[in-house]
Amino acid sequence: LHQVLHGNESGSSSKTSSLPSILLAGPSGAGKTALLTLFEKRAGRSISTSTNEKTEPAKTHTSQTPVSIKLNAAASPSSTSDDQPTKKKPFLLIDTPGHPKLRSTALSHLLPLDPKTGRPLPPSKSQPIKGVIFLLDASTLSPSSPDSSLSQAATYLYDLLLALQHRYSRYTKGSKHPPSIPVLIAANKLDLFTALPATLVKKELEAELGRIRVSRSKGLLDSGVKEEDDLMGNSKEEGDDWLGEYGSERFEFRQMVEFDIEVEVMGGSVLGGEEDGPGCEGWWSYGEDGR
Ligand code: GDP
Repeated sequence: LHQVLHGNESGSSSKTSSLPSILLAGPSGAGKTALLTLFEKRAGRSISTSTNEKTEPAKTHTSQTPVSIKLNAAASPSSTSDDQPTKKKPFLLIDTPGHPKLRSTALSHLLPLDPKTGRPLPPSKSQPIKGVIFLLDASTLSPSSPDSSLSQAATYLYDLLLALQHRYSRYTKGSKHPPSIPVLIAANKLDLFTALPATLVKKELEAELGRIRVSRSKGLLDSGVKEEDDLMGNSKEEGDDWLGEYGSERFEFRQMVEFDIEVEVMGGSVLGGEEDGPGCEGWWSYGEDGR
């Protein structure tokens, strides 16, 4: 399957590295590998007509390196091999590991850091990120569920949105900000009865992100991190780690618009037949709008 690229295994990686990319992030167990497999299968079916190779499901990847697949933006999960190929530009879907210790992989795509100094570098021109899909498991998100994944998912999301917020505020050229990167929060596993609908997912996340933001700003004051950073020359401005509107009481996703970050929460299910769940047509067409 020549369209599917895993990291640098393919010789044409230099060509593909300049393709617009969608970053797939989210905690472990959210269904990223399953989603990648599905998209890979659909993309393969609708673009490749001359291959005899069988489409193998993507192996659950526990490695530390991100996996990239090249997709035809026009390929929708419902398209078949009979569909006419279109001229839409392909893009890369970069799947990143969800383990908390490896999260920096995802964030480094959004806010690259200089490996020597640890300071932020300007956004990469060679691999422009067009959007982020943040996948989470909506069936374990309820704060009252026994192994609630809310805190883990929200912590990751906080770091991700904060990286985008920093990207916006730090890379101005004159009055020009870098191109905006919209975030799709894909609430997965809506085929399961314990799953929260998208509206509730949004509400719970906003509340949890608000709690995180308060506890982080307190932690910063208590621990003297600010002074330490100042000494190291990483002077932080007040409110640098505050997500959204500074000083506001409640966090809401729409506060991110101030930083040119559009956040949308949409429910779906990677697995389960159409009768069991909503599928992931909505997520797919979100990427299709050229976003
Ligand atoms: P990752 O860690 O984010 O890559 O998550 P995986 O893709 O490995 O999925 C974790 C588990 O969730 C697997 O057992 C999947 O089969 C399951 N899963 C993924 N998507 C869905 C879904 O839409 N519905 C249900 N019921 N299970 C799902």
